[in-house]
Amino acid sequence: MKVAENLSMITENINSACKTANRNPSEIKIIAVTKYVTTKRANEAIETGIIHLGENRDDGLLNKWETLGDRAIWHFIGTLQTRKVKNIIDKVSFIHSLDRLSLAEEINKRTNKPISCFVQVNVSGEDSKHGINPENVLDFIHQLKAFHYIKIIGLMTMAPFTDNEEIIRNSFRGLKKLQLNIQALQLEHAPCAELSMGMSNDYKIAIEEGATFIRIGTSLVGQ
Ligand SMILES: *Cc1c(COP(=O)(O)O)cnc(C)c1O
Repeated sequence: MKVAENLSMITENINSACKTANRNPSEIKIIAVTKYVTTKRANEAIETGIIHLGENRDDGLLNKWETLGDRAIWHFIGTLQTRKVKNIIDKVSFIHSLDRLSLAEEINKRTNKPISCFVQVNVSGEDSKHGINPENVLDFIHQLKAFHYIKIIGLMTMAPFTDNEEIIRNSFRGLKKLQLNIQALQLEHAPCAELSMGMSNDYKIAIEEGATFIRIGTSLVGQ
């Protein structure tokens, strides 16, 4: 399938989820996750009008960035090893996987301008998932105030790997609830207005529960 055809189906689904949730589709930004595909295919996505691209490895990001760099806004969405920060920091506008102070410290050290970060939360408590436990998120966010260049624009989560819709929905709901708690504090370094949640299999549920960035790979650029 052409990316354009996939995108038009996804757009329909976004519109219908927004209708269900009484939201405006303009609140939803699509990140095309290009980690499985070629630079050529990523370029096809850009040609449909997509501007946000997401990669989960430093080498994958660098590879595509060399060709497509200034034509997209780059998101780092995967586990980020501290020693890899220097490779990607001046190429990405968003980091979705901030989950420890040592990583915040390194990002802050390597950048010379504010960088938009999501705190990754392990809402479901699954062992295999990276991210902060929900009960530790507020403390973590308070501690991030020490890092001048780090701006907490929102929270990110990955739903558990299951086809049980209620479990998925509850994990997105849990992230929304945490966001409201943080927003109530009105922290200057953590406006937390965004929610990065929803992938190919669960973005409709994520939108119904408040997602503002959805990260879509397979069903958008998969061939
Ligand atoms: C791969 C990946 C996605 C996209 O997954 P699909 O199921 O292919 O849509 C989204 N978020 C993260 C963090 C990923 O690693």
